[in-house]
Amino acid sequence: MSIRLCTSEMSERDYAHQLHLERDLTLDRGFYIVNLNDIKYKVDLWRRSCPRVTPFYAVKCNDDLAVLSVLANLGVNFDCASKAEISKVLSLGVAPSRIIYAHPIKAPSYLKYAKTRGVRKMTFDCVEELQKIADIYPEAQCVLRLKVDDSDSTFKLSLKFGAAEEDCLRCLQEARRLGLEVVGVSFHVGCNNQSPYAYANALNFARRVCDQGEKIGFSMKFLDIGGGYPGYHGFEPIFEKTSNAINAALETNFPKGAGFEIISEPGTFFVSSAFSLCARIIGKKVSQPMEKESPNKTVIQYYVNDSVYKSFNISFFTDACVSPLCLEDDKVSGELCETVIWGNTCDGVDKIKQSCLLPELEVGDWLMFDSLGAYSTTLETPFNGMEAPDKYYMARPEIAEVFNAMKVFNDEEDVAHVHRHFSLSSQARGLRQAA
Ligand SMILES: *Cc1c(COP(=O)(O)O)cnc(C)c1O
Repeated sequence: MSIRLCTSEMSERDYAHQLHLERDLTLDRGFYIVNLNDIKYKVDLWRRSCPRVTPFYAVKCNDDLAVLSVLANLGVNFDCASKAEISKVLSLGVAPSRIIYAHPIKAPSYLKYAKTRGVRKMTFDCVEELQKIADIYPEAQCVLRLKVDDSDSTFKLSLKFGAAEEDCLRCLQEARRLGLEVVGVSFHVGCNNQSPYAYANALNFARRVCDQGEKIGFSMKFLDIGGGYPGYHGFEPIFEKTSNAINAALETNFPKGAGFEIISEPGTFFVSSAFSLCARIIGKKVSQPMEKESPNKTVIQYYVNDSVYKSFNISFFTDACVSPLCLEDDKVSGELCETVIWGNTCDGVDKIKQSCLLPELEVGDWLMFDSLGAYSTTLETPFNGMEAPDKYYMARPEIAEVFNAMKVFNDEEDVAHVHRHFSLSSQARGLRQAA
């Protein structure tokens, strides 16, 4: 891994192009352009759009240290789901009160760790988990995760997690019996949700469960509306509709001035468009059209230096959002050909893009894929021994301030140094004030 900075105002494509020209890049691996300015843009947009909702970034989506540090510096809080995620966020100097342990089913040792580090807020969705919490961490502040409609999302969570409405009362009563404190409710409408109404319906449900909780003696003042907000380039229209629907449903069910603490857990929203991947073509096959077929039936297959086992886990499920661009200007204007893009492993299912149109390219040429920040780097596997992409960071001076003392970092020790530098400067200066 290497970390470098580019502080000038330029596009990701320009920067990638410059790197390609200036550096002797190999065909062994590609690289990400990580645009930290885009993270700041999303934070500002969130605060403008949903001023009543405090975001807790879902670390599982992308745990890049620079991203976490910039978010922490901007005052964003964190949703963690494991011991390692909690530890990583705490090591940035983030207070435990800024973390929610948002996994409804927790390993006992992780729960003990949360206790020793003072991470009190956590979700649950069944009576069995309550017993575990009562045994290990009876001082926890419990948040009941609800099973909500996620039919308009790409990745569904409600089959696995959440209490159905008919089970909520039993959960609340059991918590009472065990002497636990339930402070509110949470839900997740599924990742990349396309329906603003999913949140409105979930908020009505949340209100009903809060009323049940109040009736049996809990102070239900905590509301967690989860993740699910799209974050790819051009997501703004759907986000505007979603945030309007959320604000309206909040006003109806959880009105201002009634003392609610409202949080969300965006993952994809903050990081998706901040990461653009540049992958290089390492192999090519041109299939000649059969004589009877029309001549434009030529299909070109490219093999690139990334795979579904590294950045393109998404292609296992859908390749609709995988859209390659040519990096080099002199290539973009050529005649378009039917194209298939394969990954570099020996696995037959390692197909990145089933079908797209591209000008004819050669081995050594670069493709750029934007909006690959969510569930990409955190799902990398060492499969087949292929190399993971490098990362090059872009940041404007006020965001790059914490990087200023850095030069070039090429190994684990250097990354640790960056880490220390981040946490020190975040405490000493705080980009929050600068922002
Ligand atoms: C995965 C997850 C998130 C993040 O979801 P996005 O759709 O990426 O915003 C938030 N909260 C919980 C509990 C999750 O499991």
